[in-house]
Amino acid sequence: MQAINILLIEDEDGDAGLVRYSLKFSGSEHQITWLKSLEALNRHLEIRDSAVDVILLDLNLPDSNGLETVFRCKSMARNTPIVVLTGHDDMDFSLRALEAGAQDYLIKNQLKAENLLRAIRYAMERHHLEQRLQQSEELMMAAIEGGDLGVWEWNLKDDSYYNSERLLENIGFGKDDPELPTTASQWMKQIHPDDQNAFHNALNDHLNNQTQRYQSEFRLQHKEGHWVWQFASGHVVSWDSDGKPERMVGIHQDISERKAMEEQLRTLAMHDPLTGLLNRRSFMNAMNSEYGRVKRYQGHAASILMLDIDHFKKVNDTYGHAMGDIFLKAFAITITDNLRENDIFGRLGGEEFAVLLPDTPLEGAIKVAEKVRASVEAMRVDADGKALGIATSVGVDELCATDSRPDGALARADTALYKAKQKGRNRVCQQIDAVNDTAMPSE
Ligand code: GH3
Ligand code: MG
Ligand code: MG
Repeated sequence: MQAINILLIEDEDGDAGLVRYSLKFSGSEHQITWLKSLEALNRHLEIRDSAVDVILLDLNLPDSNGLETVFRCKSMARNTPIVVLTGHDDMDFSLRALEAGAQDYLIKNQLKAENLLRAIRYAMERHHLEQRLQQSEELMMAAIEGGDLGVWEWNLKDDSYYNSERLLENIGFGKDDPELPTTASQWMKQIHPDDQNAFHNALNDHLNNQTQRYQSEFRLQHKEGHWVWQFASGHVVSWDSDGKPERMVGIHQDISERKAMEEQLRTLAMHDPLTGLLNRRSFMNAMNSEYGRVKRYQGHAASILMLDIDHFKKVNDTYGHAMGDIFLKAFAITITDNLRENDIFGRLGGEEFAVLLPDTPLEGAIKVAEKVRASVEAMRVDADGKALGIATSVGVDELCATDSRPDGALARADTALYKAKQKGRNRVCQQIDAVNDTAMPSE
């Protein structure tokens, strides 16, 4: 074992001799440096960089007295444990010495070798633990501040609940707000109804010992009424004698920004960036669901329109691609204005679009298609000072419960669209027309 490096600060020769004598017979490997004042300590620390393991500190020195001595010694040798040597057997005074930063104290007239050695070892150990605790607190504070975290504490016995000010700020409450919830039950009522189930499941799983840690994401109601996304995590830290959870602590974090980004990503993944309409993938998903309903519920009708702008190449060729894009956007807006709220409109690619009309049988869909076609024909876009128009062809068909594939109706509407193009464009065709056309070539 390494020799203990001891710094003895004691101005009384007799007391210093006693300490040295006691240590001599303690059987420990040690080196003692003896100093007589704080001034001497200051000089010693300036010139010596050798590590001191412990300071034995007399409180009444020529240049310092009482607790003041502890404070000053601590500020000079911040990283060294201190054992205070006090003349009086005064518990209260000794405790104050500990509060001032000493790790232990010894009463001079009770100095015995074993006491002294035990106090030294204890002070060193205690100091080591204090430093580790401080480091871990510093780390936790860095995590809390850097991660914008707040802390919470829940006493399950009386349901009292503490939230740090950071959370209160997030949801618009001051810490002395009379409307501020104070119990966990009141707080839980602030959670969005759609998030209640998941929240309670996560909490109960933890309280029933099924998870090591409780974690949940939920919306809390802001004082002004809107919702704020929160992440909370925590665990039970104490149990009563029956093994029931007594106290839980944890952290929470405002995750509104992350949720908004997730939402943006979802929107990006689902929509066409030019027109903002659903892209092919999400349109197909919507059609799959609608096909499911048509198959499940007898009498549930739904129809589909396929649209393709007429001679769109010419628009691009004459006015440029950028102008073509402006037409595409105007086209999307014009049609949206002519649809109902729950109609589903998507851009399948290029200048091909499709509309899914729930609760709409074929006759109704033909009327919608005609209205949409006429609105596109009437639409004008300003280019080079001229008001320009385009036209669209539309193919219509109905979703059938007997279809083997969800996109069966889409393929038929596409055939109808092809027919509309063949018949001269700027018109609406249903697939049955295609049969009639072939049956009656004279038309
Ligand atoms: P038709 O009446 O037969 O449909 O004639 P069309 O000229 O519209 O022919 P087609 O459908 O084959 O051509 C589509 C054109 O649409 C070709 C392509 O340059 C253009 N296009 C596709 N996507 C975009 C786009 O995002 N922006 C622009 N500006 N043009 C596009
Ligand atoms: Mg076209
Ligand atoms: Mg096309």
